[in-house]
Amino acid sequence: MTLKDHIRGVPDFPKPGILFYDVSPLLANGAAWKAAIDALAEAVRPHKPDLLVGIESRGFLVAAPLALALGIGFIMVRKHGKLPGDKIAHSYDLEYGTDTIEVQADAVKPGQRVVVLDDLLATGGTMAAAINLLRQVGADVRAAAFLVELTFLNGRDRIDVPSISLMAYD
Ligand code: IMP
Repeated sequence: MTLKDHIRGVPDFPKPGILFYDVSPLLANGAAWKAAIDALAEAVRPHKPDLLVGIESRGFLVAAPLALALGIGFIMVRKHGKLPGDKIAHSYDLEYGTDTIEVQADAVKPGQRVVVLDDLLATGGTMAAAINLLRQVGADVRAAAFLVELTFLNGRDRIDVPSISLMAYD
C-alpha cells in the first residue's frame, strides 16, 4: 500500500466536472496517517521552523500532529470573523469575488521562521494569500507543505518559497 491508496477521488464535488481529492480515508487509517506525518516531518525539519502555521480548516489537521512530531507549536490562519482579539487581515481574489483570512496580531514574533501547512495545493491562491498575511506580521516564511499537490494546476509557481508535497497528481 502507498499513501495514495488512502486518497479518494470524488467526481463532481463540489461542482459538476470537478474531481475532488478526499483525504478522509488517510486520516481514518492510523498507520497510514502516522506514515504521512512522519514523512512530512522529515521533509519539513531541514527548514528549521520555529513555528508551524495551519490554514483553515484541513490545514489544522496536518499542522497539529506535525507540530507535536517536531516538538514546536502551531498557529492558525482562519477565515474572517473566527479569531478573538487583535487580528491582521488579508483579502484576496477568488474566481468569483474575494475572501478574507486573518491571524492574531501577536501570533508570530518578527523574524520567526515558519512553515505553512495545508492539506492540498491546487491553484496556489490560498497558500499565496496565507504567506502574504504572515509576512505582514513579520514571519520569515521558509516553506509551504501539503499532503497532496495537483501538479497540472501549477500552484507552486504562485508560491515564492519551497513547496513540499507527499503525493502529486497530474
Ligand atoms: P487553491 O487555493 O486553489 O490552491 O486551493 C487549495 C485550497 O482548496 C485548500 O485549502 C484545499 O483544502 C482546498 N481544495 C481545493 N481542491 C481540493 C480537493 O480536490 N480536495 C481537497 N481540498 C481541496
